[in-house]
Amino acid sequence: MFSSFRFLVFFTALFASIATQTALASSREQIIEKYLRNMTLSEKVGQMALLTLHSVSKGDLPYGLTEPHQLDPERLRSAIVEKGVGAIFNTGIHAMSLKEWREIITTINGETSQTRLKIPILYGIDAVHGMNYAFGATIFPQQMGLAATWDPEMVEKVAAVTAYEARAAFIPWVFTPTMDLGRNPAHSRFYETFGEDTYLTASLGKAMIRGLQSENTADHQRVGATLKHFIGYTQPVSGKDRTPVYIPDIVLQENFIPPFRAGIEAGALAIMLANCELNGVPVHADQRLIVGLLKNELSFPGVVLSDWNSIYALYEQYHVARDKKEAIKLAINAGVDLNMIPFDLDFVTMLKELVENGEVPMSRIDDAVSRILGLKYALGLFSSPSFSTGDYPAFGSDSFSELNLQVARASMTLLKNKANVLPLTRNTKVLVTGFAADSMSALNGGWTYTWLGRDTDFYAKEKNTILEAIINKLGAAQVEYVATDYDSNTNIEKAVAAASRSDVIILCLGELSYAENFGNIDDLSLPKSQVELAQRLADTGKPVILILTEGRPRIISSFAEDMAAIVMAYLPGNEGGNAAADVLFGDAEPGGRLPFTYPRGPNGLGSYDHKSPEGYAFNPQFAFGAGLSFSEIEYTDLTVNKKEFTSAENLAITISVHNKGGRKASEIVQLYVSDLVATIPPPVKRLRAYQKIILDPGEVIKVTFLLPIHDLKFVDNNGRMSLESGEFEIIIGDLRQTIILR
Ligand code: BGC
Repeated sequence: MFSSFRFLVFFTALFASIATQTALASSREQIIEKYLRNMTLSEKVGQMALLTLHSVSKGDLPYGLTEPHQLDPERLRSAIVEKGVGAIFNTGIHAMSLKEWREIITTINGETSQTRLKIPILYGIDAVHGMNYAFGATIFPQQMGLAATWDPEMVEKVAAVTAYEARAAFIPWVFTPTMDLGRNPAHSRFYETFGEDTYLTASLGKAMIRGLQSENTADHQRVGATLKHFIGYTQPVSGKDRTPVYIPDIVLQENFIPPFRAGIEAGALAIMLANCELNGVPVHADQRLIVGLLKNELSFPGVVLSDWNSIYALYEQYHVARDKKEAIKLAINAGVDLNMIPFDLDFVTMLKELVENGEVPMSRIDDAVSRILGLKYALGLFSSPSFSTGDYPAFGSDSFSELNLQVARASMTLLKNKANVLPLTRNTKVLVTGFAADSMSALNGGWTYTWLGRDTDFYAKEKNTILEAIINKLGAAQVEYVATDYDSNTNIEKAVAAASRSDVIILCLGELSYAENFGNIDDLSLPKSQVELAQRLADTGKPVILILTEGRPRIISSFAEDMAAIVMAYLPGNEGGNAAADVLFGDAEPGGRLPFTYPRGPNGLGSYDHKSPEGYAFNPQFAFGAGLSFSEIEYTDLTVNKKEFTSAENLAITISVHNKGGRKASEIVQLYVSDLVATIPPPVKRLRAYQKIILDPGEVIKVTFLLPIHDLKFVDNNGRMSLESGEFEIIIGDLRQTIILR
């Protein structure tokens, strides 16, 4: 009786929800159809234009905006009323206050009242580690730091805060997450990825989309997500940004496509294309990729947008078009829906002419415009394009900061801890040095208050650098600080002299902040002066604790041996200083595990899931998944429910994890599978599942993984997912079990 009642309730709720979904879908279709029927060609092509805020602001274009930022009424009118522009993005020169953002978005939207159809404006922004272009917002670790937590729940919470704080600024759409893989550490956008692994990227990316969008993107607490950058962009051969990428089909399918597929299945509303050429064809002109793969094969129903100036780049950089107009024709016919122009309005005029001359079919325009209107609908813009103030009391709140601190702590990755030098005791006398010790921008990297994140005037004054956080903990009397430079020998002698007065040296090395091409490098090695500082300090005989704040693994092999401890902090955001100090002094456990392989030399690149012949030469500084705990953790009793399986059965795998130490520990249990023989050379192993657990001192936790048999599949020589019989190894820690697939 009880259970049939429950069934009744369940089915009534299910049908009600299907009915609501259907009603929503049909009202969405109706709205789109109604507009499409009524719109002129000019109005349609206007909707396909995405202009940067600069072009509707006062000042000299492109970058000489007036300070403080001001919208230019004439430029705004010309864009929205005359040209029918439907979307705007970006910040001005730097971040702005909530009040400024709200005025800007309200004024921009207000301008649509002068248009015939009053279609609301779509506003988008790069909120890539929190709402990084609003003063007072919560600035989280960069995506690579989030990856190091291996914690989808945490990532979802971070994304939900980002969504809330973007909406607080009246912005409904963000350009995140990056679903491309970080497999080339030289690339300047390495830190914007979730690292090198397909499964980790897909699982954290889905969590991010859940947090950003939730069930209802129209509810003014959530925003639309954009998957970036389709596809392969982060794998340039030269390592330099926006340079050619070559990825064989089989690798694209096995490694690069699955995270995007997962993101699409999770409902991401938009996808931004990669501004590079992939396998010889510029992505923005590749119909096979955009229509064939993305829109047809992966059934992506949302908006495909270009990257910055990437359509004109077909003419200006790639030389596959004779002029801007031909570039527009190529890209729109290839399937691009929305053009991040970013500055001029020629696009609108030229695209209209192309349609009138029959060079771009009307069906293509209608496809693009219905996707764009669909996005506006999903974001609730048709029902309430204007927002009410005062609904966001938690913006920049202490509770958001607390989450930020938890996340930053959970990302800190302890890579070395000789003789358990860490955690340090409170009465230690420390020398703090290294260029990154007293720098907020070294903790944050690019996309922080400004694009390059370098202008420290805009940083939140109340946030702590690593030095400040250590002083807060120990008191100034116990801390000596010697400032050094990023790439000069200034003060190296002074630091060496100060070492004699301290028990321990805390050395903060890494990178200056950068974004995109401003992060291009010719050599992964750290600047010589930083290496020299590390070596000279190690020579003093005092234990050196190295903290790395860097967006990619800069080479440390010449002195890593001489460091007593190494903590990888990535780019941990505004709470990064506090989190690092908490880990150094044992107020938090180092929760992070490396989401990439840390190379030993600039040419020693490769990922953990390499093929067997690469194995003999594979000798990284630190392995993918590496990270120590302050406690001693032991894995025992790896069992698989059966020895032999058929293709219709799934695997149940258990492992016991024992915290043998005297401290609470945070552990990431990582399950790998190795296919021993396959028709194409199998990777040595692949991550197939992971789970984060917290263990009390002495506690044993039995972890179970249910692994679908299809996780043993791989892309075969015919490009198909194939499940082949034979032996497989299940690997957790140092333990292995062989199973047989019949
Ligand atoms: C970047 C994108 C970014 C866009 C808008 C481009 O240069 O490649 O990732 O979303 O600018 O700022």
